Amino acid sequence: MSAAAGVEAAGVEKAAVLLSEARDVTLLAHVQPDADALGSTLALGIALRRRGATVRVSFGAPDHMPESLRPLDVLGLVVPAGEVPMAPELLVACDAAEPARLGVLADRLGGASRSVMIDHHRSNPGFGDVQVLDPTADATVVLVHEVLVAMGVEIDTDIARCLYAGLVTDTRSFRFAGPASHRLAAELVETGMDTEALVRPIMDEHPHAWFAALAGALQRCTLEPELGFVHTTVPLADVTRFRIEEVDSVIDVIRGATEAEVAAVLKEIGERRWSVSLRSKNAVDVAAVAGALGGGGHRAAAGFTWTGTSDDLLAAIRAELAKNAV
Ligand code: AMP
Ligand code: MN
Ligand code: MN
Repeated sequence: MSAAAGVEAAGVEKAAVLLSEARDVTLLAHVQPDADALGSTLALGIALRRRGATVRVSFGAPDHMPESLRPLDVLGLVVPAGEVPMAPELLVACDAAEPARLGVLADRLGGASRSVMIDHHRSNPGFGDVQVLDPTADATVVLVHEVLVAMGVEIDTDIARCLYAGLVTDTRSFRFAGPASHRLAAELVETGMDTEALVRPIMDEHPHAWFAALAGALQRCTLEPELGFVHTTVPLADVTRFRIEEVDSVIDVIRGATEAEVAAVLKEIGERRWSVSLRSKNAVDVAAVAGALGGGGHRAAAGFTWTGTSDDLLAAIRAELAKNAV
């Protein structure tokens, strides 16, 4: 076993002990939570609630649960950020690469009596009293599963659905999944969960009205062949009108451009404010690009926020791509 894996195994044991002893647990996902962040917090939350603990799950923004992920919260554990105590007894941060990714709830880390961090981002500097940090894990739910096993929790279909949701999305339907993730998926499916019914609303379904907006984004999609770079924008009117599920699906269309190694979607979230999604096929590390521009992420999927014009934003990405060219 490598030294890194040993550190992680110790973290898993310590996290399992803290969680097993806790009477009151606050589980936090990163802002704009995805299926990995909410699947992780809700899987732990369901297990702890069933053992009798007081449990709340929350995230700093937005002020509502992403619609397609609501079915994961079978026990109604999600509470608004404003209802998270200032000094939680035990705080658990899931899938957050740094405290700032907890948004307005980042200050609860300092106030917590004890804290556990569970994450798989390489850029994570390490935070919290107990750390379960493994950049080789395909998703945070993989690490949460290890903690649940160490706690002796029986994985029922409700917990399996939460874990599977994080696994299938973070691995892009298992294309970025190693053998361990495929094995875990088999174990989860064996609980009797319906994978298609779970995944379709999360990954495939959009309201018909979205297609016109998607057509606009595809019409604006620009290829810069010399950089192997493809990009488009989603204007504020569309970001406001449609769900995050629609807006965040654009990157998965344009990343397929044969000529491009890197894809970017510039989502307008306010006056001169942009939330940017970056994807790469393999050769370019977009986490390095996003990191240089104030964000972070993984080698093949990263993001950052930006203030300024879209022209300046694109120029900044081009400059970083030139530096990271292979
Ligand atoms: P997204 O394009 O929003 O799906 O983000 C892709 C990945 O990039 C996420 O899984 C996060 O790990 C990371 N990421 C996105 N936005 C940020 C940000 N503002 N700061 C740090 N990491 C980010
Ligand atoms: Mn995430
Ligand atoms: Mn993740």
